[in-house]
Amino acid sequence: MDGIIVDKKTRLLKLYYKIFFPVDEIAEWLSYGDGKKLKFREFAYTTVNGAFKRYISFDNREEMVKTFYTEAPAKVDISAIYNVRPQYSGKSNLRPLKKELVFDIDLTDYDEVRICCSGTKICDKCWNYMTIACKILDASFREDWGFRNILWVYSGRRGIHVWVCDEHIQLLNNIQRAAIIDFFQLVKGNMFGKTRVHLNKLHFSVRRALKIIEPYFIPLIVIEQDMLGNKQRMDKFLDSIPTKETRNEVGLLLEKYTSSLDRWQAFLIYIKTEMESMNKVWLQRRYFVEETILRYSYPRLDVSVTTGINHLLKLPFSVHPETGKIAIALDLDQIHLFKPNTAPTMQSIWNEKIAFNSNIKTENKTNKMSDTTENMKEYEKTSLKHSVNVFKNFLANMKTIRLAPVIDPETESKFERISIRSLRYY
Ligand SMILES: [Zn+2]
Repeated sequence: MDGIIVDKKTRLLKLYYKIFFPVDEIAEWLSYGDGKKLKFREFAYTTVNGAFKRYISFDNREEMVKTFYTEAPAKVDISAIYNVRPQYSGKSNLRPLKKELVFDIDLTDYDEVRICCSGTKICDKCWNYMTIACKILDASFREDWGFRNILWVYSGRRGIHVWVCDEHIQLLNNIQRAAIIDFFQLVKGNMFGKTRVHLNKLHFSVRRALKIIEPYFIPLIVIEQDMLGNKQRMDKFLDSIPTKETRNEVGLLLEKYTSSLDRWQAFLIYIKTEMESMNKVWLQRRYFVEETILRYSYPRLDVSVTTGINHLLKLPFSVHPETGKIAIALDLDQIHLFKPNTAPTMQSIWNEKIAFNSNIKTENKTNKMSDTTENMKEYEKTSLKHSVNVFKNFLANMKTIRLAPVIDPETESKFERISIRSLRYY
């Protein structure tokens, strides 16, 4: 890499980690109410020159921020909590004991269905796939799995990382993690045509996912992503039709129409009519429409990130090495409003801080007021503030849950009996 570029990048990284990075909040998160836990956590980093170091650990927040400042890492990852301090123990002595359950959703895995971009490119249109994915996952996490402490983080480039932080979930081994990710493997990324979406019955979790997708499917998938808009896309759709005969029949039907929407609606009428006339082919695939909806919009997850307890994943609020964007925490309710292409970068927040300070100076001169921003943290002067607040709210909720009195199991089961009875009789 060009020396001047390296120097500039290193300078920006040093500035970022010294004055903007929310080290107190990150240390609080990784301590889970016990400051001694931090030093057993593995950190890894890649320097601007490409050197990679694993099994780093920090005694406390001061050591963490000092190392980030001196090393100016281009990329910071974290992994498991180990039985001993990773940094000072031989690799053979290391046993990963705990880690958050993590999920990685990346828009690259949607290349087979998105038409607006491909590869490394993303835009607001394909970001809608992320919105759908997050809503489906969140509902399942809470309702099917009982997860309560869930952190949503922008990956800094094309996707979202999800950190499930409930303490008992951190104890899951690789096999248990694999079982959970398998539950979500209805559609495997880049596996169009070989998907598992072949349903004999609709599991309540799938029903709920379909309900979440419903308002998006026509406007975003059929129209905006032009699902059946040209021959190539129609052929892809036709590939999933059960028999050669019906495939030809549907092919001829679609050709009568010119827009993706008209083609989809004509297909819906066709399949309804065929079902009503008891066509065996379609009766055997009675959830074909639902299967299609899922194939085009169900979350695609990176399995290896979830299954390996010691798999590395980017530290929230660290910097993406290629885009310079910050891996900010996202508010689930506002994920649809997030604009990945204008997400905060090291440079943009530095510019925002300079602009903020110069505005304050002008205001103070004009109004002859004293400076009321003295106690502000630097990130509060930038667009990072909103995201750090999202993270703080997540930490506060987690603390409330951690400190909540444990309900006596007997009392809890009494509550359950009461609520079941009331459901039965009223
Ligand atoms: Zn796009």
